[in-house]
Formats: sequence, C-alpha cells, structure tokens
Amino acid sequence: MGADGVSDGAFLVTNGPTSSEVLLLVGPPGAGKGTQAEKLARARRLQKLSTGDMLRDHVGRGTDLGVAAKATMDAGQLVSDELIVEMVRAELDNQPIRVLLDGFPRTVVQAEALDALLTELGTAITAAVLLEVDIDELVARLLKRAQEQGRADDNDATIRTRMQVYTDQTAPLVAYYEGRGKLRRVHGIGAVEEVFAGISEVLP
Ligand code: ADP
Repeated sequence: MGADGVSDGAFLVTNGPTSSEVLLLVGPPGAGKGTQAEKLARARRLQKLSTGDMLRDHVGRGTDLGVAAKATMDAGQLVSDELIVEMVRAELDNQPIRVLLDGFPRTVVQAEALDALLTELGTAITAAVLLEVDIDELVARLLKRAQEQGRADDNDATIRTRMQVYTDQTAPLVAYYEGRGKLRRVHGIGAVEEVFAGISEVLP
C-alpha cells in the first residue's frame, strides 16, 4: 500500500489503448512492405522500425556500422544477424512497446532473437503479416523503383540476388510464424488502399 492509500500497481494498466503491440511485415523485396508499413504505423500509432532505412541512415552518416554494412547491402546480401539484432535492440527502449517492424526479422535466427528479446521485455509478437506477391510482378516493380530512386541495390543482378536471398533465408519465416499461430496472409497485389484494407482485416 502506498502512502496515498492507493494499492501499489493500481495504475498498471496492462490492456487498453496503450498496451503493447508488435506487428511485422514479411514479403519479398518489392512487395510493398515500406509503403504499407508507413500507413499501418500511422493508423495504429506504432513506431516504425525499418532496418533497411536504419542501415541506409548509417551508411549515409558514414558510421562504423554503415561502413561495415555498405558492401554487403550493395551486393544484395544480408548484413550479419548480430549486427541487426543489436541495432534493433537499441531501439526497443520505450514501454509499452508499440512497434511495426519492416524488413526485420529476415532470418529464422533473427526471429528467434526477436522472440527472446520481446520475452525479456515482457511482451510478444501480435501478428506477422505476409504480403503475398507474384515474382514477375515484383521484378517489374523493382526495376521501376530503380529508375525512380536510383538505389544502389536496385539493379538487375542484385534484384536477382535479393530474390534468391529472400527464398533461401527469409521465406522460412512463413513456416516459423505459421507454426506459432502468428501468420496472417494478405494478397499483396492491387492498389495501395486495397492491400492496406486487406491487412487491416486480418489484424486484431
Ligand atoms: P527491400 O525491402 O527493398 O529488400 P530493405 O530496405 O529492407 O530492402 O533492405 C535493404 C538491404 O539492407 C538488404 O538487402 C540487406 O542488405 C540489408 N538489411 C535490411 N534489413 C536487414 C535484416 N533484417 N537483416 C540483414 N540485412 C538487412
């Protein structure tokens, strides 16, 4: 009992508008994760954590991490799990944790590290949204984005590498989250608003 006569912990609200929420988006490069992440984060008042954006920011500022990651990113390969997990861990310092993860986890090792980290912080993943998109459509989108934005990793050869990296290292996340009852499949082709409506429908 506190000095004011109110039970200690009386203000610990565990459910309600400020309860923890952790959403993540899974999908191949070009599936529109970034666009949907922006919208979802705004609509549900979540902090958006995009590991791709965070890494590009490090590269732009020339930090040690950026220097270490640049060549790997330009080649379309994945930056080491240790480095990524530490980078994300440093961001998860607010309670309650309300985040939308974009581009992370990208390997089963990262997914396991994320689960462990969230358990440590007293929470868990709410849902993993899979954006299902046809590969031909994806390649066309990525080549268009390459022209529009001039990203160093959006050329023909790296696009192919990134698709392969997705198939080999990231696609196993589908089974990982399905097995834990967390996977929500959404058709990822169509207008931005249509896809967004599809995502909103499958979320609690
Ligand atoms: P896209 O969604 O277009 O594939 P991102 O912007 O998410 O690309 O990521 C760009 C690059 O940054 C990746 O190809 C990879 O090298 C690196 N990267 C981003 N997130 C991760 C991650 N979770 N694990 C390892 N590497 C990552």
